[in-house]
Amino acid sequence: MNFRSTRGQAPVLGLGAALAAGLAPDGGLYVPESLPELGIRDFDGCDTLATVAARLLRPFFADDSLAKELDSICRDALDLDAPLRPVGERTWLVELFHGPTAAFKDFGARFLAACLARLRRCGDTPVTVLVATSGDTGAAVAAAFHGRPGFRVTILYPDGRVSPRQAHQLGCFGGNVEALRVAGSFDDCQALAKRALNDTQLKSTTPLTSANSISLGRLLPQMSYYASSALQHWRAHGRPLNFVVPTGNLGNALACIVARAIGLPIGEIALATNANRVLPEFFAGGDYAPRASLATLANAMDVGAPSNFERLRWLYPEAPALRQAFRAESIDDDEIREVIRASRERYGTLVCPHTATALRLLERLRAGGESKEWAVAATAHPAKFDGVIEPLVGSAIEVPSALATLLARPSHSEPVTADYATLRDRLASSRVS
Ligand SMILES: *Cc1c(COP(=O)(O)O)cnc(C)c1O
Repeated sequence: MNFRSTRGQAPVLGLGAALAAGLAPDGGLYVPESLPELGIRDFDGCDTLATVAARLLRPFFADDSLAKELDSICRDALDLDAPLRPVGERTWLVELFHGPTAAFKDFGARFLAACLARLRRCGDTPVTVLVATSGDTGAAVAAAFHGRPGFRVTILYPDGRVSPRQAHQLGCFGGNVEALRVAGSFDDCQALAKRALNDTQLKSTTPLTSANSISLGRLLPQMSYYASSALQHWRAHGRPLNFVVPTGNLGNALACIVARAIGLPIGEIALATNANRVLPEFFAGGDYAPRASLATLANAMDVGAPSNFERLRWLYPEAPALRQAFRAESIDDDEIREVIRASRERYGTLVCPHTATALRLLERLRAGGESKEWAVAATAHPAKFDGVIEPLVGSAIEVPSALATLLARPSHSEPVTADYATLRDRLASSRVS
């Protein structure tokens, strides 16, 4: 299969090249030239996340040199649990936080790393994976590439704008991973990363690649947990499963949307945002009006210009059809706090602030009489956000062992200004072996 840019001004590429490129040279995002159609029977015998993923992704890998590696990529990267946990009547959480860094970003980062490692040839110049993060992406990418020969990771994160445990995680890898805490916002970090990734002169001596939510290498594997939970539900009940996805850059949600478009038994899809209202306003009939982001308790969703919106427009070029296909609602910090305070009693479990937005959206739907079966994507483990949650619930959160291991390591990050020349010098002068 070939992949083209959403802006249509760049050459089409095979899968491996599109994965390695990140953003297309015309500034667009890579999308498949056509979508495969798969039926439920195509997944007969696929009963783990890795086997569902391998079946689902086979058409996307067709004709590429990576095709023969697909099974091994899925086995290595997607050997992660994503259980459907019942939390009430006709309501489940699909828990996406059982990976090494306790957020759903592990699925995409591990898959991308497994692909890029297999695309490398002996003697290739080492590649720097440059990633701007509002918290969870950086740690997932660091964990996925840590210790891999031929790769170096440079993380840019906004100083003081990520939770203390997120900050600790970002700095605790060392080795081929360097964490830079930027005096600025996430938007500043993203602007720095974009500038470097578009700097052809720098890239001629220092190969760079990105791992942000626009990467095809994240979109593809993220479909697998929606596919696998929807299939599990279908096999048990014979009905499609509906999903609420907490949304920032639309990366995770887009995976759910594409999985439905391919033919998986997914019913409605609802998008929950925090107080950043660009999508809800669009879905309510307004113009698409990207703007600066607001800081909220669900910090990994503090996005004012959702970077995957172009992929949504690729799937639904006509705005009225797009507005028909989903709903999107905004949840403010007061509502997030209310859900977190009540979550143990209401759902039998604590939830992170991002998951809380999605649960609140479902609560609104239920209050309006909605009676279908819904799963809420639980995107991070609550222990990553102890600073928000513990004061609200008045007790300590148990830390999962993978996270505890990372938190026990020493952590180091370098302070930097939001200045491109400094970053450029730093990238150009470091060398990996
Ligand atoms: C990144 C992230 C999100 C938002 O995901 P997008 O793909 O940007 O929409 C939600 N929750 C958590 C915990 C995250 O880390």
